[in-house]
Amino acid sequence: MKYQSTRGQVKGIPFKQAVMMGLAEDGGLLLPESIPHLTPGDLDALAKYNYPELAFQVMSYFIEDIPAADLKNMIDRAYASFTHPDITPVVHRDGLYLLELFHGPTLAFKDVALQFLGNLFEYLLAESGEHMNILGATSGDTGSAAIYGVRGKKNINIFILHPHGKVSPVQALQMTTVTDANVFNLAIEGTFDDGQQIVKETFGDLDFKKKYALGAVNSINWARVLAQVVYYFYAWGQVRKQTGANKVYFSVPTGNFGDIFAGYIAKRMGLPIEKLVLATNANNILTRFVNDGDYSASEVHPTFSPSMDIQNASNLERYLFYLLEEDSGRLSAAMQQFSDTGQLAFTKEQVASINEVFLSTSVDNDQTLATIRDFHAATGYILDPHTATGVKAGKDLAGGEYPVICLATAHPAKFPDAVNQATGKNPERPISLNGLEERERRCATIEANTETIKAYLSENAL
Ligand SMILES: *Cc1c(COP(=O)(O)O)cnc(C)c1O
Repeated sequence: MKYQSTRGQVKGIPFKQAVMMGLAEDGGLLLPESIPHLTPGDLDALAKYNYPELAFQVMSYFIEDIPAADLKNMIDRAYASFTHPDITPVVHRDGLYLLELFHGPTLAFKDVALQFLGNLFEYLLAESGEHMNILGATSGDTGSAAIYGVRGKKNINIFILHPHGKVSPVQALQMTTVTDANVFNLAIEGTFDDGQQIVKETFGDLDFKKKYALGAVNSINWARVLAQVVYYFYAWGQVRKQTGANKVYFSVPTGNFGDIFAGYIAKRMGLPIEKLVLATNANNILTRFVNDGDYSASEVHPTFSPSMDIQNASNLERYLFYLLEEDSGRLSAAMQQFSDTGQLAFTKEQVASINEVFLSTSVDNDQTLATIRDFHAATGYILDPHTATGVKAGKDLAGGEYPVICLATAHPAKFPDAVNQATGKNPERPISLNGLEERERRCATIEANTETIKAYLSENAL
């Protein structure tokens, strides 16, 4: 399997190179040159595997340049860090199937991909004799999942900027209590946007980027998408076992379109997904895209589901490539237009083609709390606010014909305030958070200034 850029200037590169490139060198995103199509017989065979075996099988369709034993080993180590024996268990509540993706070390679905990506980076760097300095900004979940993905790994240092005092206390502690020597938490005196801007400017200094071998961990890395394709197969297999149904809906709380794009790949591979339900919060740009063909950014509104507070979904470009019939010229023109004007408009025919795959609705803060409250009252189960948007959207949009699988993207204990407002109770804390407040911390508070951050990097980079 070879990889190509959505923008057409990078072609024919193997998986390993695609992983190390992250963002394609022409500014596009990397995709496989073709998507394997599985037969019903292939699907039956896949349904028999446990999670790590399945991950190996699914990923192997897309990876030709890593020996099987090495890939297996990286996968096994990645999922050994999960606390549930099924890795991503499926539970049945209130007529829905919840795919629990939060049993990894930082209690959010991003662990599923980043635990694997950390091992993959370490493996590829050992092979090439190179090193890497990862730089990223976070509003909460990505930073901690990335830190846990690479803590203690050889030839990698990681620098994560978070806005001082502006991430949830649990999120801040999850990051700053990691004291491995290769992890650098930087609490910047500014906002998340300041952090993103600093990261962008630092990557934009190409000499600096090269000198320090800067690497990124945001969701544009193809390996992250690939690792997430696996659990769509897994959940489908589990639900088929429980119900006998072959076709399913998935409902996905969405921000950067990474997680749901993995579902789209699974559907293109032949997994019998009736529709993918795309749930947004008040930041509803993707809902407007799906329902009206209107992709136009507005201001970011803070909500109870902060990991979905996004107005420019970085992974949408991958889907647009397919919507525009894999024409990298048309795609490049569209991306240029979005960057110039902040908006894209799609035709009726295009909206119809989007709706063959996606349905969408936006779930506001009140509806999020009401969903947590009602679900808890009906079942005793506590949803986190991100998962609640997906549950609400799944109930509203997926007709009763097929089972509905909702992706449970975070553990409720990460967002105790919203849960408490909804139910009057604090969610139970999993063992991994016990004693969090008492642990040793390592974090530097630093001015939100690109030159200051670059100076810090120069002193501490590999
Ligand atoms: C990151 C995140 C999302 C959004 O996922 P995307 O891949 O950006 O669409 C949803 N829920 C939680 C808990 C997250 O951390």
